[in-house]
Amino acid sequence: MRAPIALMSVAEALNAILFHTWPLVARYCPLESALGLSLIEQVVADIDLPPFDKSIVDGYAIRSADVARGTTKLLVVEEVLAGMTPSRTLGTGEASAIMTGAPMPKGADAIVMFERVERPEKDIVVVHGPILPGHNRMPRGREMRAGDIVVPAGAVLDSAKLGVLASVGASEALVQPRPIVAIASTGDEIVPCDQKPGPGQIRNSNTPLLAGLVQEHGAIPRPLPIIPDRLDSLIDAFSRALDGPEPADVLLVSGGVSAGQRDLVPNAFARLGIEEVFHKVKVKPGKPIWFGARSSREGVPPTLVFGLPGNPVSGLVCFLLFVRPALEILSGHRSASPHSMPTFPLAAPVQHRDDRDNYRPARFTAPSDDPGSTIEVLPSVGSSDLRAVASADGFAIFPAGERTYNAGDPVGFLDRRSWRFTARPS
Ligand code: AMP
Ligand code: MG
Repeated sequence: MRAPIALMSVAEALNAILFHTWPLVARYCPLESALGLSLIEQVVADIDLPPFDKSIVDGYAIRSADVARGTTKLLVVEEVLAGMTPSRTLGTGEASAIMTGAPMPKGADAIVMFERVERPEKDIVVVHGPILPGHNRMPRGREMRAGDIVVPAGAVLDSAKLGVLASVGASEALVQPRPIVAIASTGDEIVPCDQKPGPGQIRNSNTPLLAGLVQEHGAIPRPLPIIPDRLDSLIDAFSRALDGPEPADVLLVSGGVSAGQRDLVPNAFARLGIEEVFHKVKVKPGKPIWFGARSSREGVPPTLVFGLPGNPVSGLVCFLLFVRPALEILSGHRSASPHSMPTFPLAAPVQHRDDRDNYRPARFTAPSDDPGSTIEVLPSVGSSDLRAVASADGFAIFPAGERTYNAGDPVGFLDRRSWRFTARPS
C-alpha cells in the first residue's frame, strides 16, 4: 500500500502559486480607465506649473511701489480675464483688473482683491496700501518645474494622481492592466439565481460571489454560463475562456474538484494541457482546491487556473488565501505575505481541535484600528453558510492541532474586505 501523501500547507500552496505568477505585460491606458492601476514608469512634468506668473484672486494687478505710502488712486487700463494674455505693461499709477488664473501684466508685482478696494469711477480704483510685492501672485513653476517627477513608478493611481498626470499632459499612463478573470460555476444541480430551484437543485451563489470578489480587487470578471458535470461541456467552456478572442489571465472554476463521481474538472483541465501544480491543501474550509498553470506564448505570463470547491464559503476562503495574492501580483501591486497575517485578541474562549488550519467567520467588536478591538467568532453551520460570512469582517485562523484559546489570546485574521477599501493611500 502506498503511504498517504501529506497535504500541502497554506503557505506551501501559496508559494507554489506565486512561483507561477508574474505581473501582466504593461500597456498604455487612457486616464479615464486607469483608476486603481499601478504605474510602471515615472511621469515627469513637461512644463512649469503654473506656466506663467498668475493671479490667485479676482482683483487688480498693481505695482506695489505705487501704494507704498498708503491709500492711492490708480488708473484702470485693462481687464485681463483667465485665458487672455495682457496687452498692457503697467506704468506708474496704473492698474489692470485681473481674474483668478489670468497671467500677470508686465510691470505688476502684486494683486489686491476686489473686496479690498473702492471703484468710485469706471477707470479709477482706490487701493489701501501698503501691499507687499508678490501679494496674491503665484510665480511660474511654483507648483512644479518641467522635468520634476510628479508621480513615481509603482504608485497606485488614485483620483488626485490622475489629475496630476492630466496636468502634465500624460493623457495615457503606462500601467499594469487589470487581470481578466473568467468565472465558471459547474454542477448539474446549479440553476441561475432568477430561477426557483426544482427538486435537488440549488441556486448559483458562486458566480456573483466570485465576480464581486474579482471586482473588489480591481480585476475584470468574465462570468460564463453554468456548466453541467459533463467532460465535453467543461472542456468546451474552459477552452473558449482560455483561447477565445479575449483570453482570460485567470480562470476560476467553482465546483467539481472534490472526490465525487461527477467531479470531472481536474480531468477537463488535464485534457486542455493545464499543468497541475497542486490538488488539495491542509485547510478548512477549502481542502479540495486545485491549482494549475498553462503557458501559451513566450514572454507572456502563464494563465492561472484555480479549481475552487463548490461550497460558497470554501470558495471564498480559497479566493482570499490564494487568488487574491495572485491578482495583486498580476496587477503589479505588492502582495501581503501569507506569513504576516495580523493578529487580534479573541473576544471569548474557543475550543479547537482539527488536523487542518481552520478559518472561521469572525467580526471585530469595534473598528479594527481601535486598540480595544477584539474578534468574535460567529456561529456558522458550515462551508455552505454564506449568510454567516455576510455579517463577518473575515476569518479567525486556528492552526491545525488541539488547543484551548482563552479570551484575549491573539489569533491570526484573514480580512475579507479588500485593502482598497481599508488601506490608506501610500
Ligand atoms: P462540489 O464542490 O461540486 O462537490 O460542490 C460542493 C457543494 O457546493 C455542493 O453542495 C454543491 O451543491 C454546492 N455548490 C456547488 N456550486 C455551487 C454554486 N455555484 N452555488 C452554490 N452552491 C454550490
Ligand atoms: Mg459539483
